Amino acid sequence: MSVFNTVAQAPADVIFSLTAGYKADKHPQKINVGVGAFRTDELKPYVLPVVKKADTILFNNADLDHEYLPIAGEPSYTRAATKLILGDNSPAIAQGRTGAVQTISGTGANHTGAAFLAAHFKGSGKVYISNPTWANHRNIFASLGFDVQEYPYWHPATKSLDYEGMINTIREAPSGSIFILHPCAHNPTGVDPTQEQWKGIADAMREKNQFTFFDCAYQGFASGDLDKDAWAVRYFVEQGFELFVAQSFAKNFGLYGERAGNLTFVCKTPEDTKRVLSQFEKLQRSEISNPPAYGSRIVDIVLNDPALYAEWKENLKYMSSRIIDMRQKLYQHLVDLKTPGTWNHIVDQIGMFSFTGLKAPQVKVMIEKYHIYLTDNGRISMAGLSNSNVEYFARAVDDVVR
Ligand code: PLP
Repeated sequence: MSVFNTVAQAPADVIFSLTAGYKADKHPQKINVGVGAFRTDELKPYVLPVVKKADTILFNNADLDHEYLPIAGEPSYTRAATKLILGDNSPAIAQGRTGAVQTISGTGANHTGAAFLAAHFKGSGKVYISNPTWANHRNIFASLGFDVQEYPYWHPATKSLDYEGMINTIREAPSGSIFILHPCAHNPTGVDPTQEQWKGIADAMREKNQFTFFDCAYQGFASGDLDKDAWAVRYFVEQGFELFVAQSFAKNFGLYGERAGNLTFVCKTPEDTKRVLSQFEKLQRSEISNPPAYGSRIVDIVLNDPALYAEWKENLKYMSSRIIDMRQKLYQHLVDLKTPGTWNHIVDQIGMFSFTGLKAPQVKVMIEKYHIYLTDNGRISMAGLSNSNVEYFARAVDDVVR
């Protein structure tokens, strides 16, 4: 008998199964609003023009080789990533209190940070994730032995942030718990705290000595403004917090499959930073030895060249504006159709996703009757909508909520 005879079948990944269902569907009006990847108005994957330029630079570089990168990644890349999230003039950078490790995209940044904390952070052993959140948060932290708990986030009645619930949980959690916070474009709700609310969250985190772990997968993609989207992280750093920030360049560079990520950490002193970095290197060596080079080289070229950096910002504006435009069009169609309920949340939410408020049985009808693929929590990726399908989508919503 096989030694694997007792291995149980794991459930299929929800998002990837949805995409498989969409691909197999032959209906001419089918729509995929399940997966969080940007699409053009023609619903095609988008290679950022600035990425094409960086590609050409890489391709024409006669000195390019395929040697290993350093264990913690290419320093010019990790430094640029840290500067991007903390700001050009961050005192923490100037004081030598920041370090970074190049990771396998945002998932790897979460995992590497989690693995470090599992080994070195003497806290309560509990990790709090928002309810709801990106499904991988639970998987990553649970697989490293953390007791994963949730803090309230989405308030279904108001279709907005459950700020009270969130603050109360931070206060009631045992000291030394880890809180995973989304600094912008919360996945899946598209609802972010206001700056005033972030200040309240920081106060509660400080009072209870909780550890802040930001997961930033959408900087610049949310508002089109890199600084605005980093505001919460910079505020916490300004307030003297030690923290981790996971960064992904999947969405804002359209480098999904290239797995370019970074984990920036901010400590109290340069000495702490040096020791922490040494442990990250030790950890990284046993996990991946050294990070992959292609995606990070693209990001490195763009972030370190003022002209390309300026062009990247324009590309970001194009992506964020298309999404904002789709929010407005969807909202307007629903209003015109006099669809029952309130729909302001569609335009108030930000980033790739919108939490529509559709319930699982309604989602089932969307898929089976209308060939529109979305997760059963009612989340849609705005990038799956276009000028040619948004009205069909709105009519389907109108039908299922009546
Ligand atoms: N964190 C959040 C909240 C996300 O939404 C995502 C992507 O959907 C990620 C992290 C990381 O994605 P990737 O590993 O592709 O960078």
